[in-house]
Amino acid sequence: MSGPATRITASAPAKTNLLLHVGSPTPDGYHPLETLFLAVDLRETVTATLDPALARRGPGISVSVEAAPGSAYERMVAEGAARLSDIPLDAENLAVRAALAVCEAWGVAVPGLQLHIGKAVPVAGGMGGGSADAAAALVAVDTLLAEHLGTAASSPEELARLGAELGADVPFMLLGGAAIGRGTGTELEPVAADGSLHLVLVPQDQGLSTPAVYREWDAEHAVASATEAPGGGVGLAPDPVPAETLAALAAADPDALAARVRNDLQAPALRLLPELETLLNHGVQLGALAGWVSGSGPTVCFLAHSREAARQLVGEFGRERRRALAVTGPVPGARVDSRG
Ligand code: ATP
Repeated sequence: MSGPATRITASAPAKTNLLLHVGSPTPDGYHPLETLFLAVDLRETVTATLDPALARRGPGISVSVEAAPGSAYERMVAEGAARLSDIPLDAENLAVRAALAVCEAWGVAVPGLQLHIGKAVPVAGGMGGGSADAAAALVAVDTLLAEHLGTAASSPEELARLGAELGADVPFMLLGGAAIGRGTGTELEPVAADGSLHLVLVPQDQGLSTPAVYREWDAEHAVASATEAPGGGVGLAPDPVPAETLAALAAADPDALAARVRNDLQAPALRLLPELETLLNHGVQLGALAGWVSGSGPTVCFLAHSREAARQLVGEFGRERRRALAVTGPVPGARVDSRG
């Protein structure tokens, strides 16, 4: 029988938000959300390898990153539209923070870990690529430690609790599928989606900072909040996710869903990058059922009628020399892909 693994590769999906309803910030500065997450088949991988020599030399964790072979992100890097150097390779990296959180939860000294990220999701694109790295690292390092200590891996609830401290999207990247997210997005309610939705993603050459987009939302809503909540009260609550939207998702009915997509961060994102509006209109002219900015942007998502329609849309964008890729969702959350 083979011994415990010294190397585990885990993957986690990117997400888009079919709905993103934003409320006024709480006194600690967080915006309460009601959002409908969809995990899509664009996956980040994290390989965690035990390297005891690293633990002897110092900090105990090293991290490296490559553009995943064949991914849209690899093309972006090759064409100079994205730089791997934008990704921090120190304790700021979300995969490193996730690995440290797992070791702390297990109460063990960092055993010497090499983390290698295979990046497929554009950075700062509103698709939660860094959060996917955190989720994949949580699963990979947790599995590695469990094998070495000869015990069961952490429960999904325990990993979700660790994930929520790393970032608001991390618990969803662990869960996958489709889910309503409340609070900052960490309180999840899985929802049904009986079939696949076909989307086309159009990444942008420049990223958008999530805090900058929320600042735009704040500027737009300053008057409304002050009127409704004199003296700094609760302000605007996010609208709940409508039952009709959930029914359209449950049936994986693209026509019904197209009429219901809504992102409250889209207007602020368009103010920061006005050219996105032209792209949104153009995609619909080319046959998409609906278009929206993903999360805080700037990646633009289009909903297509079928796999074939998504392929055609990618072809149309390609003829215009625009990078686009077809994805489907929902897909599973973070999981172990291989061990060695
Ligand atoms: P979200 O929609 O969750 O706000 P995003 O998809 O817009 O996220 P990310 O790709 O997650 O953005 O990256 C946001 C920032 O996080 C980057 O600019 C980078 O400085 C930092 N970061 C930390 N760790 C990572 C990582 N592993 N991969 C990418 N960025 C990371």
